[in-house]
Amino acid sequence: MNIDLTKEELAFRDEVREFLATDYPQDIRRKQDEAIELSRDDMIRWQKTLYRRGWFAVNWPVEYGGTGWTAVQKYIFANELAAANTPAVIPFGVKMVAPIIYTFGSDEQKQRFLPDILDSTTWWCQGYSEPGSGSDLASLKTRADRDGNHYVVNGTKTWTTLGQYADWIFCLVRTSSDVARRQEGISFILIDMQTKGVTVNPIITIEGDHEVNEVHFDNVRVPVENLVGEEGKGWTYGKVLLQHERTNIAGVANSQYRLRKLKQSAAEPMRGTKALLDNDAFRRKIARLEIELKALEYTELRTLASVQVGQSPGPESSFLKIRGTELQQAMDALLVEAAGYYALPYVPAQYELDFPEGERIGRGTETISSLRYFNNRKASIYGGSNEIQKNIIAKHVLGL
Ligand SMILES: Cc1cc2nc3c(=O)[nH]c(=O)nc-3n(C[C@H](O)[C@H](O)[C@H](O)COP(=O)(O)OP(=O)(O)OC[C@H]3O[C@@H](n4cnc5c(N)ncnc54)[C@H](O)[C@@H]3O)c2cc1C
Repeated sequence: MNIDLTKEELAFRDEVREFLATDYPQDIRRKQDEAIELSRDDMIRWQKTLYRRGWFAVNWPVEYGGTGWTAVQKYIFANELAAANTPAVIPFGVKMVAPIIYTFGSDEQKQRFLPDILDSTTWWCQGYSEPGSGSDLASLKTRADRDGNHYVVNGTKTWTTLGQYADWIFCLVRTSSDVARRQEGISFILIDMQTKGVTVNPIITIEGDHEVNEVHFDNVRVPVENLVGEEGKGWTYGKVLLQHERTNIAGVANSQYRLRKLKQSAAEPMRGTKALLDNDAFRRKIARLEIELKALEYTELRTLASVQVGQSPGPESSFLKIRGTELQQAMDALLVEAAGYYALPYVPAQYELDFPEGERIGRGTETISSLRYFNNRKASIYGGSNEIQKNIIAKHVLGL
């Protein structure tokens, strides 16, 4: 494997750096660096910045507005964005439903939905999981019964990330129970969140955030033209989508950014005591994490090298997901340790931009390190839990 970048790739990297230096809005940069929650408008403004440069729909075919980049260019781009700590793109429209629409949808659906996803006019959310159907998704119970030119949808979806902002939801629903295998009879449909009978209820997570929701459908009438592909083939389309969800899930570049922040924070003496970095035991923990992260980076590069020569990532993406999220969570724990007592209080108001500097508790983002710690317990659950990823590895690599 040759990991040196070519002259053209280095020039591309410089172009991305230049763009980030000039076009990444200062106010959003500051919020990101100080770990202040972004508003819906901030997230959309950043996505529109990428769109204007033609760099939003990185993976789409060029004919629909994609970049046409090589796997290495995509890797460079993702790494430069993570190194600059830019906001994560909300994946549900651009990375999840759009590939299903341009691969399996009708021409009418492509024309109707793709342009609004491309310029972030519409916000999408994902309606797969249900109470009682997560890892065992094929047991889902939300029904869509045909009534003339409509489906009538009844059921509940849960853990719907940022569903409170969404204009549309893409759902896996049961259109037939008269099937040999549970995976059959499931369809992929698009539902306008404004339709009568759709209710969104917040789920407040352990750290007090409103990030996920429960979405109820009570006799919701959905036009049949909102069915994507063939009725009963939703499971096949849904699986394709999960592969998209798992790419880049290791988050190596972002962990490297956080490692740099951790080292900076640990290098400063705290209230007259020695800097944590002078403590041998803590330094060893950082060193161990850095080595593990480097090893994961090389695994990611090996996967990239095989994608570059036309192979598709198989069970490697499960390995990257498990190790990547384990290291993210190990980083969360070290950041809490580095924050010391400052990790105990949570005073959200002090992270509002106009909070007087001198009245802050701690030295910056320390008091939210425990929030981040609790919030990120999710990383080993969503996108297919780490236990399920281990089952995939056992089956496809170990042949068990
Ligand atoms: C923060 C967050 C955001 C999410 N966002 C969305 C979203 O936007 N849209 C959406 O549709 N879903 C979303 N999800 C749902 C997510 O996909 C599910 O939580 C996940 O698939 C696990 O399902 P479950 O929660 O029902 O747990 P279960 O499937 O009940 O699993 C419970 C535990 O048992 C383990 N387990 C289950 N089956 C097996 C097995 N066969 N072998 C070994 N261990 C097993 C699991 O690993 C887990 O530890 C989100 C979840 C979280 C936490």
